[in-house]
Amino acid sequence: MNALTQRSPPERRTSHRKSVLFCSQCDRTAAVDEWVLTTTDDGETLACPDCGATLTARANLSD
Ligand SMILES: [Zn+2]
Repeated sequence: MNALTQRSPPERRTSHRKSVLFCSQCDRTAAVDEWVLTTTDDGETLACPDCGATLTARANLSD
């Protein structure tokens, strides 16, 4: 039987799963809301609270 073909598409789950971000400077790993959020004219920027590095924020994380 070959009924288990891996064709399950990525389902959009209603439960909001937090994205995890990484700091390239100090390897800190934390959820999105555990970084220093700065709102600028261009959008929002996340900075590392440990080393102060600015993360490259992805636009439209929740879209
Ligand atoms: Zn850092």
